[in-house]
Amino acid sequence: MKKLLLLFTLALAFGLTANAQFGKLNAKHLDAVKKTAKAFTLTDAEIAQYCQEYIDWMDKNNPVCETTDEGPKRKGFADRLAKIVESIPASERKSLDIKAYFVVDQNAFACANGSIRVFAGLMELMTDDEILGIIGHEIGHIVNKDSKDAFKKALLTSALKDAVGSTGGTAAALTDSQLGELGEALAGAQFSQKAEYAADDYGYELLKKCGKDAKSMASGLRVIQKLQDDAGIDKSKMRQLFSTHPESGKRADKLDQKYAKE
Ligand SMILES: [Zn+2]
Repeated sequence: MKKLLLLFTLALAFGLTANAQFGKLNAKHLDAVKKTAKAFTLTDAEIAQYCQEYIDWMDKNNPVCETTDEGPKRKGFADRLAKIVESIPASERKSLDIKAYFVVDQNAFACANGSIRVFAGLMELMTDDEILGIIGHEIGHIVNKDSKDAFKKALLTSALKDAVGSTGGTAAALTDSQLGELGEALAGAQFSQKAEYAADDYGYELLKKCGKDAKSMASGLRVIQKLQDDAGIDKSKMRQLFSTHPESGKRADKLDQKYAKE
């Protein structure tokens, strides 16, 4: 109940939208798919196009914070994020598209095309450097191709599950319900523990590259661990973040050991 109350309090205090929209339909088809999916091939260009469709749809269905927003709270999140992102070296930043959603959820996610979305509910709980570490973790998933693999798998088990054969090099325009199914599939996607550790290392190194204290990677993970510990009452709220980021405390311990050595 504490969590629920906290969410409502946040929503009231900041006028945040209650929850991010990942999918509008229930996923109930995840295993009915494999036969058609196997024969279906996708090029990298098609995957990139589908990624863009998905992120455009997410941005349409969630309140994006803009530095031009008139509302001071929304503008505040956008300005803060812009400042955090500015510390990333330009050569790395140029292929990224990083925005904040004005929602109470505590989450962040990356799409294979370089789009990263950070949720205001998470920004509220973290320092700037911790947010930068989380962004670095997400960049790690992109660079290590985890995001691409997860997106491809989600596409084939949701939006494209009925497709037979190739679309001939061009991504089809997905319908609203297909995008909703894709969102559900992505929300349930899980990376391996190895992939998570590698993404943490990427975030850790990014903090150093940006001239920040790499300790913030571990402390950011501890914030997530605390959320996980507190989440007992309302697991559905936590599902997005924790399905993809298990055992944050252990990962933080590992980074602290690395930090102590350096
Ligand atoms: Zn991750």
